[in-house]
Amino acid sequence: MPNKEHRILISKSVGCVRYVYNHFLGKAKKNEYLTYTKYCKQLTQLKKELEWLKKPDKFALQNALKDLDRAFKNKWIKFRKSKEVKAEIINVTVTRTNTDKYYISVAVKEEIKELPKADKQIGIDLGLKEFAITSDGEKIDTPKVLKKYEKKIVRLNRSLARKEEGSNNWHKVKKKLSKVHEKVRNIRLDFLHKLSTKLIRENQRICLETLKVKNMLKNSKLAKSISDASWSKFVELLTYKAKWYGRNLVKIDTFFASSQICSNCGYKNEKVKDLSVRKWECSECRKIHDRDINASKNILNDGLKIKASTT
Ligand SMILES: [Zn+2]
Repeated sequence: MPNKEHRILISKSVGCVRYVYNHFLGKAKKNEYLTYTKYCKQLTQLKKELEWLKKPDKFALQNALKDLDRAFKNKWIKFRKSKEVKAEIINVTVTRTNTDKYYISVAVKEEIKELPKADKQIGIDLGLKEFAITSDGEKIDTPKVLKKYEKKIVRLNRSLARKEEGSNNWHKVKKKLSKVHEKVRNIRLDFLHKLSTKLIRENQRICLETLKVKNMLKNSKLAKSISDASWSKFVELLTYKAKWYGRNLVKIDTFFASSQICSNCGYKNEKVKDLSVRKWECSECRKIHDRDINASKNILNDGLKIKASTT
């Protein structure tokens, strides 16, 4: 058990160690980071200015500098911040991609406030030509730049096929290909985040048809454009954002003939089964429909029925 005198010395030493550590950390943060030896010289100088720093054991203070030096040698890296971290940090993970890029993900604890209620509701249909079509009549295209990179991927794949597997050139092309794929992934994710946030902000209820994805994926020709469009990722983002912000996401699971039914009068036009029919006129109410916008209106109508039966 340390006596009173010891305890005072210990607590003073701890205070001095902390002072020294923070003093030099402050300098390091201002880009005045030097080596351990140079800091030791500065510490001697500092001791002349601050009499009380002479009290604790000099090794304790030097150890503080060693710790600081080690911390900087191991962790001092520049990084690009995609977002300001304002909440309490729980965990930091560093990952390396196969294109030698490093990403830092920061898990934070933050209380998310629900958004004020919105008056609008929307139905969304998965498009083939466009990414999505809304019951508002809007056709949302994937970013044009993705098409450019997709062409590049096709070109690089062809070039890779001509190279001898495992050769230097083969590895070069393979690396280039990974880079383009990574770019495509990032652009697409950014697009999906922005779109899902916008929809969540503007609408209280969002109705989507989800089973269609599975049905369509069986058809390999359609599969490419659907997986490219990342519909399932989009649904995933909408799902958690709806939960966060107090919105109602209705996933319509039953395979429902959204394209064939007239959203105005309910008449079913079997001819619309054929994917080549882009525009049609309802023989009952004479309303002229754009195939996809009509489908998204039906998705909304169906999603609203669910609301009526559950509330
Ligand atoms: Zn009709």
